[in-house]
Amino acid sequence: MSFVAKLKCSRCGTEYSLKQKLCMCPKNDGGRLDIFYDYEALNKRDIRRTFRHRPPTVWKYFELLPVEKRENVVTLEAGGTPLIRSRNLSRKIGLKNLYIKNETVNPTGSFKDRSMTVGVSKAVEFAIQTTATASSGNAAAALAAHSAKAGLKCYAFVLESASEAKLAQIRLYGARVMRVRAVEKGKDPTVQMLRKVVENYGWYPCPSFGPFNPYQVEGPKTMSYEVVEQLEGRSPDWVMIPTGSGCLLTGIWKGFKDFKQLDFIESMPKLAAVQPEGCAPLVRAFERNDDPLKIEPWDRPNTIAGGLSDVYPWDGDAALPALRESHGVAEKVSDSEILESQRLLASTEGIFAEPTGVAALAGLIKLAEKGVVKKDEVVVLLVTGHGLKDPQAVSSQFGKTPTINPSTQDFENAVKDCYGVL
Ligand SMILES: *Cc1c(COP(=O)(O)O)cnc(C)c1O
Ligand SMILES: [Zn+2]
Repeated sequence: MSFVAKLKCSRCGTEYSLKQKLCMCPKNDGGRLDIFYDYEALNKRDIRRTFRHRPPTVWKYFELLPVEKRENVVTLEAGGTPLIRSRNLSRKIGLKNLYIKNETVNPTGSFKDRSMTVGVSKAVEFAIQTTATASSGNAAAALAAHSAKAGLKCYAFVLESASEAKLAQIRLYGARVMRVRAVEKGKDPTVQMLRKVVENYGWYPCPSFGPFNPYQVEGPKTMSYEVVEQLEGRSPDWVMIPTGSGCLLTGIWKGFKDFKQLDFIESMPKLAAVQPEGCAPLVRAFERNDDPLKIEPWDRPNTIAGGLSDVYPWDGDAALPALRESHGVAEKVSDSEILESQRLLASTEGIFAEPTGVAALAGLIKLAEKGVVKKDEVVVLLVTGHGLKDPQAVSSQFGKTPTINPSTQDFENAVKDCYGVL
């Protein structure tokens, strides 16, 4: 049984039921079929107790997810990730209550597993045999892994610039991967290709963009549920979110809203969207106070954070209002600030994140310096993707590692030459 009350198109407002098995608005208007739950039908006290007794995965929150039958759930046990209280990093950047939500420990190395466990479960519920995605890499890896688990075929269209390591991961799960060349300005070629195969072959669209699949949006909201539980029933003051298409941010906001509706929390957090300078359409729209339905695409994305190079923020129409409603901010960061943050996080907290996954830290450092984020505020930093996803971004930063004979003299010389004092 499901507690979904209805689906409603974010553009035309038409309402649909879960039973209609839709992924996109039939009016083809690019709207997202936002999912609404019947909170009244959920017994608040019972549901809280039920949640408490289940294992800590995304599916702990089954009643707040859009899958009807439990037997359709496809899971690699994503979710239940640690919220780590920072001591070293927080001192370095002058904050007192910094927590790191470590999403790198998910099954395929990013939070996208939360999205795709829900997305693929719906493919099974709809009895569709082939899944397809447009992705910069992580969403495709998560979709490929969950499709493999479900015995479904998977096609992934990735940007020409996707890192080879990411493609190898996707292919290893058995997916068929293709790089797609950008030929039209401001258009994502992978999305163009996705539309074609969905129309031509009737495949199940499952990118991490709401307008193509509203079910997967519901996965990341479980991160907010977990954060509240890990903070013992409180909302943080801030959540720092690396932002590309805005789907993650939309999900995070939805999660806190669900818990507010259920009276599990008293207040909502402020959200901070962080984008790289080389691809910041949402930050620009926020600063210019643009209409959320008329966000201008970015022209030529150029950033080391490959997972944040969405030329068009597909869920910007929900992300922008969420930022405003939360009294949040949007901040952009340079590639060198991202790399500096990557080193800082690894060397102070022992967490290895890819540039995409650590971009929000670069934003946090700036916001703390500006005094936007205050010293005493409770901050949750989302670290969203594992460093091993993109090892090249790291190895290129260091010089040659010294080789020595097993001699103390050699050793001491090499330390001096390469690292400094003993
Ligand atoms: C996809 C992704 C993001 C950004 O999520 P959006 O929904 O595109 O805004 C952030 N971090 C990682 C590691 C990702 O894979
Ligand atoms: Zn519509």
